Amino acid sequence: MEEFNPRNTNADKDKDLDGIIRPQELDDFTGQKEIVSNLNIYIKAAKMRGEALDHVLFHGPPGLGKTTLAHIIANEMSVNMKITSGPVLDKPGDLAGLLTSLDKGDVLFIDEIHRLSPEVEEYLYSAMEDYVIDIMIDKGPGARSVRISLNPFTLVGATTRSGLLTSPLRERFGIKCALEYYDTSDLVRIVNRSAGILNIGIDDDAASEIALRSRGTPRIANSLLRRVRDFAQVMGNGRIDVDIAEYALNKLKIDTRGLDSIDNKILRTIITTFKGGPVGANTIATAISDDQGTYEEVYEPFLIKEGFIVRTQRGRIATEMAYHHLGLDDELESNKEGYGTLF
Ligand code: ADP
Repeated sequence: MEEFNPRNTNADKDKDLDGIIRPQELDDFTGQKEIVSNLNIYIKAAKMRGEALDHVLFHGPPGLGKTTLAHIIANEMSVNMKITSGPVLDKPGDLAGLLTSLDKGDVLFIDEIHRLSPEVEEYLYSAMEDYVIDIMIDKGPGARSVRISLNPFTLVGATTRSGLLTSPLRERFGIKCALEYYDTSDLVRIVNRSAGILNIGIDDDAASEIALRSRGTPRIANSLLRRVRDFAQVMGNGRIDVDIAEYALNKLKIDTRGLDSIDNKILRTIITTFKGGPVGANTIATAISDDQGTYEEVYEPFLIKEGFIVRTQRGRIATEMAYHHLGLDDELESNKEGYGTLF
């Protein structure tokens, strides 16, 4: 059986439900207070001036609301949005087609913008800065470039890997927002809101339990809510109480700190295979069969934020809490020597 991975959007067969529970307006969007209040001002100001909103870059781990905010921007600006992603935009011609199809003020959302090819990225510069693109007509000696004016538009870029963005591209975004993991009270609100929309009865303590185990991530909170609902329907009367929630979350192998099997594998690898560290990110990534970038941008930030891993110049070290969490206190004693000054 394939292991349940709450981070994986495709793990959810109810993907169509996403559209229903996705907040449509800034007022509906829970958490990220500073970003929301700033966007509110920028959107109002742009509307007052009758201009397109400045280009916006959202950066942060998956599932925190980057795509949702792009939809909200288009909605609040009362414009249309075209959606694409870095790897899909293969040739400058693809981008030119999209850009020339935009009406005044429209939003072009490019997900995974760090994966644009350099050729396409360069094309984007003049489009972002001056709303013009140069298109090559003909080939060989007759080739010439023709300048085409675009309607003013807003580029919204989303990336989990802002470190991979070139500085010329980054600098062309007037608004840059780094999304943070959500705190539990915001996630409780998100779980209750989604449950309300989906007509799921849920007790307060059960909503807290799901929120606590959601890795600070709304996508995971919603995904867990749906899976727990399945358990409540089959094993109970459909209402989610705390016993059903705990039972289901344990079955899904989401532990009490919200760590899933991959998180636990990472910690176990550092502690048992690499004697607690320090160990390089690349080596850890190889051990969990993933690439270094994904490890560093998707898995590690939450483990660092929660205090399970420390990043040092010599590599990653598992903290005492990680040993306790996995019940590996015996290893703690034998690994301690490698730690230098950490203990
Ligand atoms: P990202 O683009 O950062 O990977 P998404 O915008 O696709 O994340 O969000 C993932 C899911 O989480 C969406 O289905 C959305 O409904 C939900 N979500 C994200 N942020 C919020 C929020 N602040 N409030 C309520 N739901 C949210």
